Amino acid sequence: MRVIRTGIPTAGIAVGTAFVLERHALQMPSAEAASPETETARFRMAMERAKEELEVLAAGNAVFAAHREMADDPLLAEQVEERIAHGGVSAGQALGEACAEICGMLEALDDAYLRGRVDDVRDVCARIRRILSGEPEANPFAELPPGTIVVARELAPSDTALMDFSRIAGLVTERGSRTSHVCIIARNKGVAALVGVPEATREIKTGDRLIINGECGELFVCPDAAAEREYGCRAEILRQEAVRSREGAQAPAVTRSGRKIAVLGNAGSVEEVREALDAGAGGIGLFRSEFLYMQGDAFPGEAEQFEAYRAAAELCGERPLIIRTLDVGGDKALPYMHFEHEENPFLGWRAIRVSLAMRDVFRTQLRALLRAGACGNVKIMFPMIASVGEFREAKAAVAACMAELEAEHIAFKRDMELGVMIETPAAVLIADLLAAEAHFFSIGTNDLTQYIMAADRGNPRVAYLCDPFDVAVERSVGMAIAAARHAGIEVGMCGELAAAPRATQLLLSLGLEEFSVSPPAVGALKQRIRNSE
Ligand code: PEP
Ligand code: MG
Repeated sequence: MRVIRTGIPTAGIAVGTAFVLERHALQMPSAEAASPETETARFRMAMERAKEELEVLAAGNAVFAAHREMADDPLLAEQVEERIAHGGVSAGQALGEACAEICGMLEALDDAYLRGRVDDVRDVCARIRRILSGEPEANPFAELPPGTIVVARELAPSDTALMDFSRIAGLVTERGSRTSHVCIIARNKGVAALVGVPEATREIKTGDRLIINGECGELFVCPDAAAEREYGCRAEILRQEAVRSREGAQAPAVTRSGRKIAVLGNAGSVEEVREALDAGAGGIGLFRSEFLYMQGDAFPGEAEQFEAYRAAAELCGERPLIIRTLDVGGDKALPYMHFEHEENPFLGWRAIRVSLAMRDVFRTQLRALLRAGACGNVKIMFPMIASVGEFREAKAAVAACMAELEAEHIAFKRDMELGVMIETPAAVLIADLLAAEAHFFSIGTNDLTQYIMAADRGNPRVAYLCDPFDVAVERSVGMAIAAARHAGIEVGMCGELAAAPRATQLLLSLGLEEFSVSPPAVGALKQRIRNSE
């Protein structure tokens, strides 16, 4: 038995079998454009290969026969080649943009049959994009046996979106810190995780038995039978504790001093909204909308987004559903979107900065959100706000979409509440100014911690600094809460600190009245609140 004990304590205990993700599976194709001639030739070759594949598949399947016909339609090729020739972009980027435009056109039509072709267009484009990128066709996580522990250099949210978590016992990565997305997802899904384990993908082989002790940062490779038994029992005890904390989780969370505290859930999909509500959440304090954008091969259209937000809103009923607008950039990429190389991606083009720069993408999302607002208690929240000007621009974009929907006689929520995520030091320092213009705040301590401490949330070497319990973070949280309370607006916390057992009393003392946490954490948090002042 070998022990690697350099991981950062993260979450849970698991015993399982390793699946080591090949590095190349994580690499995105270079989006740098070569000459237009080369990019056009690449596109044509990929298109021809796609047609050949479809020809074979079409023999016994009407859906693929329709895809084959669609691939022959000159519109797609024209749109792509036009962009390559005049926009100087890569074949992949041109394909993503052309696909989004064609889907947008189809969605705007009155004809239900043609609207129904949107998914087919996306499928055909997905096939061409895969060929272009040289990626293997298969989802690397498909058909993993139950009890698998995935070991990777790093896992992006788009990787975890492909996983079937009923078969995954744990995640181990070389990169990452307690607040990196892989940990958040592990907690959301209730699986064990260990991050910051150097050389894990070299030292571990697929098929090795592993034990993750996420509570103290230990990873056992090829453990003996006694250790497997011991940790198997400990994992079972944790599971039973989780079951117990779910009992009584539907009851309200009232402190000993009689304060009623809202405990909401964090979710990344409609399915997770359901999980959060089942776990006792009184609504959703953070719906990470970017996961919707990671599932397809092009930006999701208004109709597709509306369906997802509407389904979530209907599940929540009168309970709040706070949906965050697209938060990409930093460590969150979209396969079909070109991000220029940046020296400091977390300080670069991400979140609201992307939305304000890509107005069509923003508009599509805002229209879908406003429309879904007519079906439930939806609120919109903007990520990474760093200035009052940015928030005003976002609000103006909402107002413009409202005017459009009004003119089109489409139902939408007129009194939509608009909130600011407090996750930059600048937002803390101008919290009074933002509070004067916002309906609510939600404190995102994952990013706030990395920016206050100037310590990348994904870099294990500075993980000791990326500590949400640092007094500097505590003071920032206190300032944001005080500014919101002074202005009389609601303030919640949706960063991981909200779920930390050591933080509950502290946050209550600072005046926090709404916590939003991953579904498995809801029951235990409510119980801690009941035991606090
Ligand atoms: C945060 O930064 O605290 C947050 C909730 O957003 P995310 O973790 O998705 O960046
Ligand atoms: Mg954030």
